[in-house]
Amino acid sequence: EVQRFDTYREQPARTADGQDIKLRANIGLIGDVAIALRNGADGVGLYRTEFPYMAHGDFPDREEQYRLYRRIVEDFDGRPVTIRTLDIGGDKALPYFAPPLEDNPFMGWRSVRVCLDHRDMFRTQIEAILMAGVQGPVRLLFPLISSMEDVRACKEVVGEARRHLRAAGLPFAEKMPLGVMIEVPAAVYLAERLAGEVDFFALGTNDLIQYLLAADRNNPLVAKYFDPLHPAVVGVLGQLAQTARNHRIGLCLCGEMATDPIHMALLLGLGVREFSMAAPFIPRTKAFLSRITLAQAEKIARAALTLGVGRQIREHIRKELAEQD
Ligand code: PEP
Ligand code: MG
Repeated sequence: EVQRFDTYREQPARTADGQDIKLRANIGLIGDVAIALRNGADGVGLYRTEFPYMAHGDFPDREEQYRLYRRIVEDFDGRPVTIRTLDIGGDKALPYFAPPLEDNPFMGWRSVRVCLDHRDMFRTQIEAILMAGVQGPVRLLFPLISSMEDVRACKEVVGEARRHLRAAGLPFAEKMPLGVMIEVPAAVYLAERLAGEVDFFALGTNDLIQYLLAADRNNPLVAKYFDPLHPAVVGVLGQLAQTARNHRIGLCLCGEMATDPIHMALLLGLGVREFSMAAPFIPRTKAFLSRITLAQAEKIARAALTLGVGRQIREHIRKELAEQD
């Protein structure tokens, strides 16, 4: 099965009618870098930095984080690397940083909320990222943003990190694109305002679907409620693609849903042109893209936006794709 798509590894990601699509890799541990490069990823759309933090015995210091980030940026040799700040909590704990007992960890003290409460640790990570930006095109991404205060507080810490590095005489990237994860429903509502604050959006559909539909992403009992094709999800994703286009900012979808061709057809039709996924899915996604035109995808999206039931949307897309084969 994997072999079937081997020839696509080095091919460009392009639709049948010639639209270039960016397919980037989601990475966590260092071993993912080789897998991403081998599968022809166009850089990294999501580097989950909590994984190296989790594999560690204690908080890594700035130098250690910098060395790790620099190595990854060098390996990608001029292709962009999007580094997301620490996204712990929810279901991800650090062995040396006991999370408090919470009734609802996914609605609790997680991700950027923890970082903003531990500003020195947060600033240290941002300093390491800014330093790695000297080696290549790094983009800095903040997770779980739910308010304008969040994004402004993050930008304030970036300012502090810059001043700190400058005072220490250390080289760092003066200009680095900043982005926010859109993964909390409030951020969807604030998308127009958020677009005025940042250079790109990263659509974290794993969390966004979970929060929009009140369906735990890890609970098999409610798996059928976790529907990437729920009309509310489809509507929101279309709206976000439109907002990013209007504001001329970047938009990359980095949730698991992008690995399913049924979803990919719809997302293309909604206007998404950049995706980040587990790298082994990249060659087969390129194969799928080479067989679909934007006109077909847009027809699929128009129909999907009129349907009110997720299952009907899925069936409709399946039928349209079967007809084209
Ligand atoms: C997401 O929420 O969709 C996402 C890409 O981030 P994570 O899976 O790390 O929460
Ligand atoms: Mg997330």
